[in-house]
Order: sequence, then C-alpha cells, then structure tokens
Amino acid sequence: MPANRIFCIGKNYAEHVAELVHLGHSPDGDCVVFMKPASCLVEEGQPIVLPRDRGAVHHEAELVIELTGGGRDIPEDEALDCVAGMTLGLDLTLRDLQTALKSNGKPWELAKAFDGSAPMGAVKPYLEQDLQDIRFTCHVNGQLRQQGHTRDMLFPVARQIHILSQTWALEPGDLLYTGTPKGVGPLVPGDEIVLSSPLLGEFAWSCA
Ligand code: ZN
Repeated sequence: MPANRIFCIGKNYAEHVAELVHLGHSPDGDCVVFMKPASCLVEEGQPIVLPRDRGAVHHEAELVIELTGGGRDIPEDEALDCVAGMTLGLDLTLRDLQTALKSNGKPWELAKAFDGSAPMGAVKPYLEQDLQDIRFTCHVNGQLRQQGHTRDMLFPVARQIHILSQTWALEPGDLLYTGTPKGVGPLVPGDEIVLSSPLLGEFAWSCA
C-alpha cells in the first residue's frame, strides 16, 4: 500500500516521559500527536542521512502501524479493524532543537519532520496478533539501546486510532508511529542501527 500520511504519538511510555523530563521537557500528563510527511520515509537498506550541525539526532524505536483507512470517529472497540499491517520504525528527532522549540512554545516540525526522519521496515500483515504484546529492541553498533514491550503503552494502539479519527478521516496507507520506550540516544555518521522483534523481524540501516 503506498504510504499516505505519517501520524506520530509522543509520550506514550512512562519511562521515556521520565527521561524527557530529565532532558528538560516539562511533563503534561497527555500524549502528543504530530505528523511527518511521507517524504521522510527511509526504506530498509537505504542510508539514513543525518542532519549536520543542528545538535543531537536521537533514535526513537517504535512499533509502526499501517492503516486500511476507516474514516472519522472510529470507536476504540472497532479501531483494530482499521489495522492493515505492522512493522518497526525510527522516529528520528533533533533533540536539542526540539527542546529549544518546546521551551519557546513553537511547533516541532523542524526537529521531527526533516528529510530522512522516518526509517521504516517492511510491513507484515496484521492477522489479529495482540498489538499490546509485542517486544522490540534497538541496537546501535551491536549495543542494546532500547528494549520495549507494547503492553507498557499509556495509550494502546486502538485508543490512538480512536483519538486520531476524531480529527482526521483516516485513509488507506496512513501510518502510525506509536511512541518510543526509554533509552533514546544520539546517532552519529557510521552508526549501524538494527531494530528487531520476534514477531516483526529484523531491520537494519546505516547512518551517513
Ligand atoms: Zn517518537
């Protein structure tokens, strides 16, 4: 299915929210919704070209959901009917820039929606597997950086779809980055990133 819009959920794992507070972000007790254009996607095997001279670029490993569509006002208990597939991806973030934008009350696009900011693995069809029982890891140069379990989401996938559908008519090919667990950290050119999940497979990228 061709990619349409990329919706992203922020602040969806408590321990990651805690590490953001440690980085100077203020806690506000809610999830955050933001978007990236589909032109940000980086398929597996393509290089991730990191932005230069704009501060730290952090990896955020996330479960990514592909939607069949579904339209407006989808009840939470019907939301999983809109799931077409799933994979892993990276919500790359210019962290220093994001911190500055947030503290000035400005939007996040410059820090979140830059070219190359959405590496995404190949999509597996959704066959009613339990989306809240998916383990995944992010290794950088062989070192474990992030280890997540989707049962720890503050807003489960069905509720995220419900929330999005209150603002947007969901369309086929819409993608949903579902938030990152703790362990985010900087990437530098030459880094090798591997996202892995027993259910979803293994996906690798090199940073340039
Ligand atoms: Zn994220």
